[in-house]
Amino acid sequence: MRFIITLVAYFCCLLPSLAIAEKPQQTQSRISKAPPKIIVAKGLNADGSLVKNYRRGLEYAIDYFGNYGPYYVYLLGPGDEENIRAIYQRRAETRVNRDSPDSPRRQVMQFLNQGSITEEIKSVLAGHSEGGLTWTQDPPVLYEDVTTNATQREKDPVENTWGALHEYHHVFQMAHCDTKFDRDSDKNLNSWMSEGMASYSSAKFMENLGLIDFQKYMLELRTSGGNIGRPGIKEFLEKEPDWDLAGERYWEEGEAAQVYYMLGAWATAYLIHVQGVEEQVVLREWYYDIPRLGKAAAFEKHMGLTLADFYQKFARFIQQPDPTVMAIFN
Ligand SMILES: [Zn+2]
Repeated sequence: MRFIITLVAYFCCLLPSLAIAEKPQQTQSRISKAPPKIIVAKGLNADGSLVKNYRRGLEYAIDYFGNYGPYYVYLLGPGDEENIRAIYQRRAETRVNRDSPDSPRRQVMQFLNQGSITEEIKSVLAGHSEGGLTWTQDPPVLYEDVTTNATQREKDPVENTWGALHEYHHVFQMAHCDTKFDRDSDKNLNSWMSEGMASYSSAKFMENLGLIDFQKYMLELRTSGGNIGRPGIKEFLEKEPDWDLAGERYWEEGEAAQVYYMLGAWATAYLIHVQGVEEQVVLREWYYDIPRLGKAAAFEKHMGLTLADFYQKFARFIQQPDPTVMAIFN
């Protein structure tokens, strides 16, 4: 069965870059003193609205989650090749490991010559919309939100802010797990946790900012898929009676990754509105314990039930009619 995925361009695929599988080690919390850096390609942000609307989301998210980093936001687009190449040169320099036996110059060349980076530069120059959140797993650890075609973003202030909120939740999440392990490992996050919780938090914060109607959005995820993709939750559940929130196959097979966003957002809603866990515990505080306790123990400690029990209860919950599940918000 194939699904058409129409993920909004700047809702990310989470991509660890330079994924060198050395001996895994626990990721430390990455609180940063430096504010995020926003790098904008020449020709964009002429009236200041691109950065202003991005910042509206970013600042809300930092206020809620804390300042993690270093975080670089690249808002790029076609138009000036020399400028784009200079931006990538500086981006490569931010990634130089001073303790490496390789010279900085060699490390910069290695980064710029990676296939994924040469392809990304081509996408920028062609005006294609790709990218998302990237991070390094080895020193220097940093996070990057790369938008290859920010022209589209500039024209849509609401989605621009929404994307900034969504990606920053990932920065916070990545700072509290170890992405050298598989997503179903106790040290890393399942896709429904990372995408679902970021989908829930960004929609909720968008409502707090007065920009969307949160409940209407949550209903849309069931009926149509909203701005995430097609099909929505109800159609998916009908076609996939053996669906499994904990499994990673929808992501790996690349055919229905949107379910992690939608079902994950509803799983998050379940924890807050049915299980009765405080919103800030579900969205933020339980993550603090993941590096020390592992995902399963941190979940049980903060949510008050085991992951296995949660999967069973949520599966029964989500298959109920719209009015029944929507009633949890009242
Ligand atoms: Zn995401």
